[in-house]
Amino acid sequence: MKTFFMQLQVVPTRENENYDMAEGALVGCWILETDPEVAFAKATFQVSKYDWLITGVETPPIEVTQENFVGEDIGAEQYAKAQQEGLAFFYVGWARDKKTSVEPITIRPSFKPNVESHLRKQKQEKNRGRCLHYDGGVRCREYINAHSIQKNQALSAISRDGHVYTPSANMTTLRENRGAPAYELNGIGTVSTFLGFCKKHDNELFAPIDNSLLLPTNEQVFLYAYRSICREVFVKDNALNLITHKINDIPANNFLRGHLEAFKAGTEIGFKNLKRHKSNYDDSLRKSAFNDIKHALFTFKGAPPIAFSGLFYPDYDFKGTQLQYLADHRNDFDLITFCSAPMAKGWGFLFAWHHTSSQICNRFLSSLFEEMSTGSRVADMLFRLVISACENHAISPIWWEQLPKDHKEEISRTFGCTVSSFSPTKATYLAKGLEGIAEWDLSSVITNTDLAPNLR
Ligand SMILES: [Zn+2]
Repeated sequence: MKTFFMQLQVVPTRENENYDMAEGALVGCWILETDPEVAFAKATFQVSKYDWLITGVETPPIEVTQENFVGEDIGAEQYAKAQQEGLAFFYVGWARDKKTSVEPITIRPSFKPNVESHLRKQKQEKNRGRCLHYDGGVRCREYINAHSIQKNQALSAISRDGHVYTPSANMTTLRENRGAPAYELNGIGTVSTFLGFCKKHDNELFAPIDNSLLLPTNEQVFLYAYRSICREVFVKDNALNLITHKINDIPANNFLRGHLEAFKAGTEIGFKNLKRHKSNYDDSLRKSAFNDIKHALFTFKGAPPIAFSGLFYPDYDFKGTQLQYLADHRNDFDLITFCSAPMAKGWGFLFAWHHTSSQICNRFLSSLFEEMSTGSRVADMLFRLVISACENHAISPIWWEQLPKDHKEEISRTFGCTVSSFSPTKATYLAKGLEGIAEWDLSSVITNTDLAPNLR
């Protein structure tokens, strides 16, 4: 991580406890980050949270080292603090009466979120069972913790003594790692579970993938994709309820409220699209029209080092070309799902999508095939996709622990960019990064589409 220093000109908002005293202030910010834009976004967010309005940039973000602050008590102290905590701020204010001498200002936000109440709500949502089967309803009983990544074959295949590494985003770890998420060992019993089906529907529906290895049949492909979608509906529904709960807790004129409302609006657009896709899948399932789902399966030799199940709206392809404008809320977004699956020989990386999403998904996969034909390693591209676009993944302890330190850090950093709301999506996020880490040996590509890889 680099350290960026910048200075912002600010004035207190009415809610700021310094409002009567201070007319304005200059804030020095020391931020640990990978690039200056993200450091700037982080700094402005933190400063705004403490009831200051940013009126100008005195010093734009510049990379600094300890040497820049030799002989400067405050600078050296704040630099050291940033190395420990990820960020440090120092405010120097000037008084309204123009007489009082310039003093460092101590800062406290006017609003403190009720963390306990949020955590309670989060838990409550997670434990609120429901059945997302298209035929689910009042007759559904006994909601069960379904695994979105298969437990018996996919998770246990990569586990050691029943444990796997999964990304940790809890607050303690966030602080210990200076904001970067790290991986922690977790028992496979709780990894990737969600209360999104009743026992009867889960057992009946998913038997062809829970009790058999991937061949693949059209029905199996459908079920893998459907389970990814149902998990996402469960997670996004909970997230929206949680955001609403948080917003209601914040005073009307606080800066955070606007920030969260914008976040909520974005999440709602994604959720609306997701529900449209779910209903397409429900229709196909009702008619057993499993051929509605298109797929491309990459099979790899040997034991898988990673297990995952996710989906996303492809925004950029593997060359960095934009495919869909996710910021334009008038559009319907095409959706692709991807997951790992155990097979009789080796394992599979399965892409699947409903035919109504073929336009974008075909272009997305074509770019992958084109990159493969010009010599890019498919393992690099697919591994990059999992770490960049799928928070629901688990890593084999045996594989993770033998990785060199810089590989572990690169993986954590790449994943950190995915979950950070401060990092803008880079056009090239699927085009480069994480090269030479995944050593997956491709054996075949199986697809029910016209797309064909030109393998050398
Ligand atoms: Zn049910």
